[in-house]
Amino acid sequence: MNTKFDTIIIGGGASGLISAIVATRKGEKTLLIEKMPQLGMKLRITGKGRCNITNTLPLKEFILHCGSEPRFLYPAFNLFFNKELIKFLEDLGLKTQVERGNRVFPQSERALDVFLALVSPLEASSLCKIIKNTSVTRILKEENKVCGVEVIDKNISKKQKYFADKIILAAGGESYPQTGSNGGGVKLAQDLGHTIIKTYPSLVGFKLDNYNPSQESNDFEIKNVSLSVTTLTRKKIFQDFGDVVFRNDGIDGPIVLKASRNVTTLLHKDDPLNVVVDFKPKVEKKQLEEEILQTFSLRGKENIEDVLRAFIPKELIPLLENNTNVDIHKQASLLFARERKEILSFLKQLTFQTTSTFGFDRAISTQGGVSLKEINPKTLQSKIVKGLYFAGEVMDLDADTGGFNLQIAFSTGYLAGLTNE
Ligand SMILES: Cc1cc2nc3c(=O)[nH]c(=O)nc-3n(C[C@H](O)[C@H](O)[C@H](O)COP(=O)(O)OP(=O)(O)OC[C@H]3O[C@@H](n4cnc5c(N)ncnc54)[C@H](O)[C@@H]3O)c2cc1C
Repeated sequence: MNTKFDTIIIGGGASGLISAIVATRKGEKTLLIEKMPQLGMKLRITGKGRCNITNTLPLKEFILHCGSEPRFLYPAFNLFFNKELIKFLEDLGLKTQVERGNRVFPQSERALDVFLALVSPLEASSLCKIIKNTSVTRILKEENKVCGVEVIDKNISKKQKYFADKIILAAGGESYPQTGSNGGGVKLAQDLGHTIIKTYPSLVGFKLDNYNPSQESNDFEIKNVSLSVTTLTRKKIFQDFGDVVFRNDGIDGPIVLKASRNVTTLLHKDDPLNVVVDFKPKVEKKQLEEEILQTFSLRGKENIEDVLRAFIPKELIPLLENNTNVDIHKQASLLFARERKEILSFLKQLTFQTTSTFGFDRAISTQGGVSLKEINPKTLQSKIVKGLYFAGEVMDLDADTGGFNLQIAFSTGYLAGLTNE
């Protein structure tokens, strides 16, 4: 078999697939190597199976959602941004639609269709060879220039070498390792002398320490709450409004994921953090206290449990019962002042401690990765090894939820596929 190619791409995820399309369109003989038995395992499950492809925010606002080094992304975004991505996919037969929050989804609402749109031109191209179930174990270099890769073909447990002067490392981060991205890509770069910024799970829920869920209260969503994360000395690190999901081992949901981007590095230090939920963010504490007093005295003959329904959805009542000392089964007129204060505190500042997230197994993205200082943003070529290019989450890039992460993968994949120095 001829083992010499123009370009080798390591990883058949979002960024690798688009790099491969661009390279083959340029007429390059391209090898796409994927370690899983199937390409695009993560892409197929994105957006809860619907794939939030990108976001239609203008560049200036979009970039604010893209981590601490947004300037790094300008060349990739200037070349291939949200409009270009939507057009690119529509040319491949995928129709898209814009939903709440400027988020773009396939009209079919199937992530699989995004994957199929990207893979079909590759399967049809005589210039592209795809090998699956094959893991790149080493990037080969001669002097200071890449020349190929060493792989293990898992089908036959055999080592093999493939050669090219251009290699795109598109092997992803560490989140959802069951989809194939388990940090191996970062290791390949490290072996070539690249600095790795310590990685942390990001866009991920928190485990809660002093939390007593109940059978009934597992996995339920509460909308329009305020969530704050503070240090134990009450210094506020994060605060926002939105929806949270209580699970049997902790809390997640859109604003918790957002919070995690701001606090994940702190969480992995020694001190715990406070997670504070305000179920009534629009009502002042004093006013709520009066409302509780009035309602309980007006409805004194009913059970506390029933009266509580005036303040919170029924799913929250077992959580209140399990995390306070309120006897919810007695008559409302028998509510002690102490219990009333506990209800107020539950509604306005339910506080848990957290020392860890749900980890990479349940994280949507990875913070950290190959240091951006060692990558030329205009070409995405390594400043350390000639011919080595980077695309996607393997780099120290991560963003908010809302389609930002996939746009980063697609834009950097496009740029890395296009450039030759
Ligand atoms: C559950 C979930 C839902 C998400 N939903 C969204 C969403 O709706 N919108 C959004 O913008 N972002 C979403 N994301 C984030 C988004 O999926 C990623 O940011 C994006 O997939 C990163 O693309 P990538 O190409 O860098 O990496 P990946 O898509 O992770 O692809 C990397 C590929 O490289 C392969 N690989 C790794 N090591 C090797 C090796 N040594 N040899 C060969 N192959 C290798 C892996 O198997 C993998 O297929 C979601 C993430 C998760 C986990």
